[in-house]
Amino acid sequence: MSLVDQSPEAFISQLRSLGQHRAYLIHDPHSGQIQRSHPGLGELADFLVAGNRDYQQHEGVFLAIGPRTGALFGAFVHRTNRGQGQGGLRHWPYANMAAFLRDGLRLAMGMTRKNALAGLWWGGGKGLIARAPGEGFRDPAYRVQLYSEYAAFVTSLRGCYITAEDAGTGPDDMAVVHQGTRFATCIPPQIGGSGNPSPATARGVVCAMEGALDHLGLGTLAGKTIAMQGTGNVGAAMIGELLQRGVAGIVASELSAERRAQLLRQFAGAPLTMVAAEPGDDSVLATPCDILAPNALGGILNPDTIPRIKARIVCGAANNQLLDDERDARALAGRGIVYVPDYLCNRMGIVNCANEQYGQVPHDPAIERHFGRDWDNSVYVITRRALELATAQGITTAAAANKLADELALQPHPIWGHRTRAIIDGLIADEWHRQG
Ligand code: NAD
Repeated sequence: MSLVDQSPEAFISQLRSLGQHRAYLIHDPHSGQIQRSHPGLGELADFLVAGNRDYQQHEGVFLAIGPRTGALFGAFVHRTNRGQGQGGLRHWPYANMAAFLRDGLRLAMGMTRKNALAGLWWGGGKGLIARAPGEGFRDPAYRVQLYSEYAAFVTSLRGCYITAEDAGTGPDDMAVVHQGTRFATCIPPQIGGSGNPSPATARGVVCAMEGALDHLGLGTLAGKTIAMQGTGNVGAAMIGELLQRGVAGIVASELSAERRAQLLRQFAGAPLTMVAAEPGDDSVLATPCDILAPNALGGILNPDTIPRIKARIVCGAANNQLLDDERDARALAGRGIVYVPDYLCNRMGIVNCANEQYGQVPHDPAIERHFGRDWDNSVYVITRRALELATAQGITTAAAANKLADELALQPHPIWGHRTRAIIDGLIADEWHRQG
């Protein structure tokens, strides 16, 4: 069986049988080839280059086995011109190495784009831990061991990857990571982190809605109708932001009865309709409205749902809303629906914590400028720029946002330009894969 078809557990056994516990696949900018730590990794290298659209000459893919947990760790570094590769750590089950690699490559590239479009001086990266089968991953003692091992792995990478919280990783886990490495951000507030980003994320998405309305010449949010899927941390805060701007009505679907009741109490008298939903229920997407805000799940914009959407604009916080980036962006454009790419409008989740090492100031101007209209990289300005580019060039809004992001991603950090590539070169020179 090919290495890419093997489960993470089988891959680990294979690596161990070769007497190895670390491996890398690194793009060599001079030859254009992938340098690999071991000749036996040819199938993985081939998988990256041959027909894998998630591979965009990522600067480095680093793999390691947790010394005691035996878990598979990954750090994916995509583009680092703007700074160290930064992005959250996902702790998730993967059926095989192909799924593991694809997720890491895609998410790291997404972080390059999100960070660049947000004007952050960070490159793009992503961390993965392949979740062990069974329920053992919930055990607090196991998690402490797992995340300390992951932290040591990050430390070994000398700062080419900066980790953060993501799906499957919680604040307690991040506190453990932070004890084991300085190369972490988005840590809990009790140890100097910035805390819950959701209100900022909601506000950022609302700025993007305003940009999209202006782009279409439809005026302000006052008097508009909104349909929303999911009223968790972000959705609930978004309801408050929208009501402050005088929207005419919000129809919001939510799984949790308790949450629905709480929001109806909190916004009593406001034009808010809460709709009960079951898992897998996406009927709220067919609500006639001006703006549809997917605030729950990824993959929600697909051939099944897009024909039913009755909104002029789709703009919400959920990550990876398009099930297939190109196909579904085209389908939305074909129906005359303006889609604001999720990684453009939900940036505040990372912006809020990305620079927390620089300390905290009240009404932080470095955060507030994202909500304004003067700064060149604000959510509103970038939304308008991406939508205008799409119209001017007859391309989808997703393609336009990618184009802007890919240009910005090549700008070198004003002080530390190209340093991260030098870190990676140092890892190769010092045979990182044989150490530890
Ligand atoms: P959350 O878990 O607090 O809220 C999600 C809500 O959606 C839950 O209340 C859940 O009950 C509801 N839900 C799930 N399936 C549903 C369905 N089929 N119909 C109706 N409701 C459904 O998550 P969150 O922090 O509010 O984040 C929401 C989305 O935004 C996620 O995709 C997240 O990755 C993304 N995001 C969040 C942030 C942030 O700052 N929290 C930043 C960037 C992106």
